Amino acid sequence: MSNVRYKALELAISRPKRTVTLPSNKVSDYYGSLTFNKAVMREYLSKEAYDKLISVIEKGDKIDRRIADQVATALKSWAISKGATHYTHWFHPLTGATAEKHDAFMVPTATGKAIEEFSSIQLIQQEPDASSFPSGGIRNTFEARGYTAWDPSSTAFIMDDTLCIPTIFVSYTGESLDYKTPMLKALHALDKEAVAVCKYFDRNVNKVYATLGWEQEYFLVDTALYHARPDMALSGRSLFGHASAKDQQLSDHYFGTIPERVVDFMTEFEYEAHRLGIPVKTRHNEVAPSQFECAPVFEEVNMAVDHNQLVMHIMEKVARRHNLTVLLHEKPYHGINGSGKHNNWSFMTNTGDNLLSPGKTPKSNLRFLSFLVNILKAVDTYADLMRMAIASASNDLRLGAHEAPPAIMSVFIGSQLTETLDAIEKGSARDQAVNGTFDDVAIDIPKIPEILLDNTDRNRTSPFAFTGNKFEFRAVGSSMNCAKPMIVLNLIVADQLRQFREEVDALIAKGTAAEDAIYRIIRKYIKESKRVRFEGNSYSAEWIDEAKKRGLSNISSTPDAVKVMIEESVISLFERHNVLTRREMIARYEINLENYIKKLQIESRVIGDLATNHIIPTAIQYQNTLIENVRGLKEVLDNKTFVRLSNNQMLNIKEISEHISIIRTLVNEMVDARKAANKFEDAPQKAAVYKDTVLPYFDKIRYHVDKLEFLVDDEVWPLPKYRELLFIK
Ligand code: ADP
Ligand code: MG
Repeated sequence: MSNVRYKALELAISRPKRTVTLPSNKVSDYYGSLTFNKAVMREYLSKEAYDKLISVIEKGDKIDRRIADQVATALKSWAISKGATHYTHWFHPLTGATAEKHDAFMVPTATGKAIEEFSSIQLIQQEPDASSFPSGGIRNTFEARGYTAWDPSSTAFIMDDTLCIPTIFVSYTGESLDYKTPMLKALHALDKEAVAVCKYFDRNVNKVYATLGWEQEYFLVDTALYHARPDMALSGRSLFGHASAKDQQLSDHYFGTIPERVVDFMTEFEYEAHRLGIPVKTRHNEVAPSQFECAPVFEEVNMAVDHNQLVMHIMEKVARRHNLTVLLHEKPYHGINGSGKHNNWSFMTNTGDNLLSPGKTPKSNLRFLSFLVNILKAVDTYADLMRMAIASASNDLRLGAHEAPPAIMSVFIGSQLTETLDAIEKGSARDQAVNGTFDDVAIDIPKIPEILLDNTDRNRTSPFAFTGNKFEFRAVGSSMNCAKPMIVLNLIVADQLRQFREEVDALIAKGTAAEDAIYRIIRKYIKESKRVRFEGNSYSAEWIDEAKKRGLSNISSTPDAVKVMIEESVISLFERHNVLTRREMIARYEINLENYIKKLQIESRVIGDLATNHIIPTAIQYQNTLIENVRGLKEVLDNKTFVRLSNNQMLNIKEISEHISIIRTLVNEMVDARKAANKFEDAPQKAAVYKDTVLPYFDKIRYHVDKLEFLVDDEVWPLPKYRELLFIK
């Protein structure tokens, strides 16, 4: 059998077991061993340099040259002791992936020998030729240089034989060309504004850092089968494929026993992650067959984002050793659940409090409610920006598909908090109360029961849910860089907190007692943001109508979702907090659209190619067999019997011919539509034309191809089928 699919299947079925033995079953023996963590710093740095570096990391102080020299020397010695031969600046360009360019420590000497060298100059800044990274027109080719600059707040690590130094990436003219730069700025804005609000409650708070715990969903597929599917190899998802008779309908995969081959992969991948100091902790089967999830213990956002980027990379690397391929695409299979990346997000203070933990005293309750209600208000004001933060061609396929949150941004807070907010909204004696102080507990805030923590997370359909002591942004796509949603969430809340403080201070200036002023503004915000709260089933059709009545947007496509980036109010929001400039916003807007266009263009080409040189020839081949058979019948049967018995086969031949002919026509039309779309110069217009005139062909063509898959002899069908791809053995 020359059929590629059968060969791939044979390979996939006969995989020898790869046994994984770890050096120790105690993770603590090797956790963080490939990171330049505090313990290593202490060992390799003088006390002075160590203290200084810690304050650079924790307080954002500037580092001086002398200390940087010491850090560079320490990094070099440590990395070489771990077997590293190269170093690289490691950054997150706007491709969504990570980037690195390795240089050897080796420098030849005049005597014909070589020494190992790594100085503070190489640590602090590099100047890669970065002309091929997306810049949205910011970087002219004659200024092809970009700068990478050390981010000391993220831990350096060793990957294979290379010391990796996390960096930001900016253009020659200073514009950011990565995800990290604006994210660090947004986190800084959040810190500043949250600390200012905390001062109402606790003078000891001088640092607030946002925390992130991501939950990464992914699919695994045997590598041989994956490579026999050009659509998956080129676009990350299956563009054709008849549904498998059995897929997820029995819910027998969810939390089921993890297949042995997958456990081996997970064990090895977790080992690699742990050595890199990535605190992955949870693993389980997800809803769809061959879909899995991994989640770490939460960390400070910048660290967590770097770790998620690394995890996606390590997963792919380790999977290959097990002849598995990781699919991070949001919707690898039609008709089956897609993958998301829940972003669990909260704020911690330097005093060790979680600001989203309901308090025990009236004072801490009021602080909790202040943060909670400001977040509600921020989501209501900037819902479209949150929608933008999760927009991509691939996530468009998943959002609102009855398995993932819809494209309508709403917040779920649970029934008890709803009651609390309702009670505050109705108000009571509190409105007349004056001159109260925190300590005389005149506050009329309904008591928030402590069982709240266990009671909130009952609604899995909300895109943004309060789950006890954190918010969970569930609409984030599985392949995305978490920095995107983290920039938006931290920025909009920072801005909202600033507004809150202005309004509270204005009341205080007029003589209102602080906690009374806070209470009043909270109450106002509860009313103003009420429409964004939704406790019901977000997957239901009724919610779509209801949301429309409430005036909430429901933006179904990326070209529409990214428009908000160039709205004046949004540009000024980003500029107000020094996160992105107008020029940078416009550039990112263009990059998003370009990316969308290119993704659709690739998929459209793959569909055309596969339909034309895989599907149609196969269908014709089978059709010829049927025709031969009918001819043979005619020879051996008398005419009457022939007419009676060949009837079904004739219908079959006709049916196949119809599908072939329709596929041909549709592919031609799609190619014409694509050519017409490519003529547009203007990115927003081109993206819209792609969406409106090219994209609709994908499902139409697929329909007929999938029918053929069902009709044509299994032995000649060239593409691995869903039932083969989905069940890992
Ligand atoms: P699931 O949603 O699957 O039920 P959980 O809601 O228990 O899982 O939490 C999963 C993630 O939430 C983990 O990554 C965990 O570290 C993270 N998490 C817990 N507390 C916080 C917090 N305060 N800030 C950010 N993330 C948190
Ligand atoms: Mg969760």
